[in-house]
Amino acid sequence: MIYFVGAGPGDIELITVKGQRLLKTADLVIYAGSLVNPALLNECKEECIILDSAMMTLEEVIKAMVEEEMKGEDRVVVRLHTGDPSIYGAIREQMDLLDERTLKYEVVPGVSSFCGAAAALKKEYTLPNVSQTVILTRMEGRTPMPPKEELSMLASHQATMIIFLSVSLAKEVEERLIKGGYREDTPIAIVYKATWPEEKIYKGELNQLSHIIAENHITKTALIVVGDFLGDTYERSKLYDPGFTHMFREAIK
Ligand code: SAH
Repeated sequence: MIYFVGAGPGDIELITVKGQRLLKTADLVIYAGSLVNPALLNECKEECIILDSAMMTLEEVIKAMVEEEMKGEDRVVVRLHTGDPSIYGAIREQMDLLDERTLKYEVVPGVSSFCGAAAALKKEYTLPNVSQTVILTRMEGRTPMPPKEELSMLASHQATMIIFLSVSLAKEVEERLIKGGYREDTPIAIVYKATWPEEKIYKGELNQLSHIIAENHITKTALIVVGDFLGDTYERSKLYDPGFTHMFREAIK
């Protein structure tokens, strides 16, 4: 069996119980070496083969999986992806090639780095009357974006926005977000290596974004988070409001 496993954002205790159990039993682990915390591999069996996918092509990854599977029905292959595999994980292309070969696989979710960043910031992305929508996106770089998802168009909603893979394009991010509709003083944060021991948080306003990134030499493994959820104004939630009746509780008169 082949398992696509979310490794979580960095802290080795943030992998799921299931993911950890599979890692302990795996005969082959292919992990995304550039982002996955290698300490997660310490509990693998001694004879487990460990490959770093940073140096491999898609075809090489699939070949390694197939060869391991051919060794016997009881073989366990773990493809370890950073955060949650469904976000910029490039798992679809792997699953499609496995389907072609009628090989079975399962996906084990993980804690995405955007959740790790909220925890690091001690913030809630969805505040009543501030934003009830979270946009996960990226800036176009060497990988193009669908034209309808251009950053300034997404910015028109002024919702909570989490921008992956884009710290090296910070100036452009800043300009497009302001052009799209966010105020220049919209609060922003850059979360570097959320949940890792070397985690760092930088806060400021949108018009300072590229300056903060340049000044602190942040070049990778960081998220840009944008929105008034980082501010101090919001309404209390109805769910816990004494005057609000819902399925489980009568309003206190
Ligand atoms: N599947 C991953 C995202 C992979 S794309 C997830 O769910 O988190 C890689 C990008 O994710 C990085 O460029 C960076 O923007 C972000 N990232 C991954 N881990 C991070 C972390 N611990 N802290 C901040 N950003 C992180």
